[in-house]
Amino acid sequence: MLSFKGNDLFIENVKLASLAKKFGTAVFVYSKSQILSNFKAYQDGLAKREGLICFACKTNSNQTILKILSKAGAGADVTSGGEIFRCLKAGFEPSKIVYAGVGKTDEEIEYALKNKIFMFNVESIEELYAIDKIAGRLKTKAKIAFRINPNVNPHTHKYITTGKEGTKFGIAYKAVVSAYILAKKCPNIVVIGIHSHIGSQILEIEPFKIAAQKIKNLVDEIEKNGIKIEYIDCGGGIGIEYEKSQKAPAPNQVMNAIFAIFGKDKKFIFEPGRSIMANAGHLLCKVIYRKNSGGQSFLITDAGMNDLIRPSLYQAYHEILPVKKTNAKKVKTTVVGPICESGDFMGNDRMLPILAQGEYLLITCAGAYGAAMSSQYNSRPLLPEVLVENSKIQLIKKRASYNDLLLNEVSKL
Ligand SMILES: *Cc1c(COP(=O)(O)O)cnc(C)c1O
Repeated sequence: MLSFKGNDLFIENVKLASLAKKFGTAVFVYSKSQILSNFKAYQDGLAKREGLICFACKTNSNQTILKILSKAGAGADVTSGGEIFRCLKAGFEPSKIVYAGVGKTDEEIEYALKNKIFMFNVESIEELYAIDKIAGRLKTKAKIAFRINPNVNPHTHKYITTGKEGTKFGIAYKAVVSAYILAKKCPNIVVIGIHSHIGSQILEIEPFKIAAQKIKNLVDEIEKNGIKIEYIDCGGGIGIEYEKSQKAPAPNQVMNAIFAIFGKDKKFIFEPGRSIMANAGHLLCKVIYRKNSGGQSFLITDAGMNDLIRPSLYQAYHEILPVKKTNAKKVKTTVVGPICESGDFMGNDRMLPILAQGEYLLITCAGAYGAAMSSQYNSRPLLPEVLVENSKIQLIKKRASYNDLLLNEVSKL
């Protein structure tokens, strides 16, 4: 929901330059309408099928954003006890929470069981036994799916490839059927599904299809052993168009390709994260200084890798837009942050107009894995977050203070 009106860039009906003046920079800005329309695409994709759209809340776990999605009917895909806590606080029904993660601790498992979440996506046999034991102690039953590793290459960055042999995720393909047979013998475990999440920022339909076919083959084998698989949890991973040259599949294209592989009796879970939040949020920042060095032209902004780590961590591309159109000459520019690391950049070799000090830039599509992955590195207080709907503006997270930097530190000196 970004558009130019005259020379000014707007998010919905709010001028970005006015947000920068009101809240200071750097600041994350979100479009509520974009979040809701992204979510609706998944809900519509389910159509008449029974199932759940579980928002992968690790992408953005701000309470207001979680509340918007829980009110819209979303479930939640969580990866830690802390995320269960946030989701319950935001009003998600426990019966719509699914819990993945390779390293669930006893404390987290107990917390999840006490709060009656819907399903554990179990990633190892040792975890299965831990859940069985804790459920027994609490005199309850744990509903599970195994997260399986279908050994599919999703053609994405290696740090966000999760469904290939040799990654730490899921149960190795060959060991899946025997894992289900072991689970059947656990007195406090109820098998209800099968889960796979093959990676993130996937721009092709084919890897999802291949994974679904492999899951279907497993389900047939598992059911031959008298174990009923009710839910097919297909994970998340659909990519978004960070660059104009990219083309992301629509949710219903991926969903229909998966539905076609299974019978009508199955229920489905999808766990979108990035495709709900990425293009609904942006990082608004300011040019502090300009300089030329070694033939390179640099813009130094007040947003750094501690605020948005994706370029540094994954060599990710984010389009960078001045919030005011100008006729100034465009030059090849490297946009960097103020952090004391050479890896601290927002974009290399971008054709940008020559800007003045104090002008604003928008680092686009930073709504997923932006604020959620930010840190206080270099003792930079966490950024504020602002939600826009139409022409309404709401501060949904305050800018942290210097005092906040010392929170929880204990000093006896
Ligand atoms: C991260 C994650 C997701 C969300 O992935 P996106 O690429 O953001 O859609 C879904 N499921 C699991 C298990 C995850 O770890």
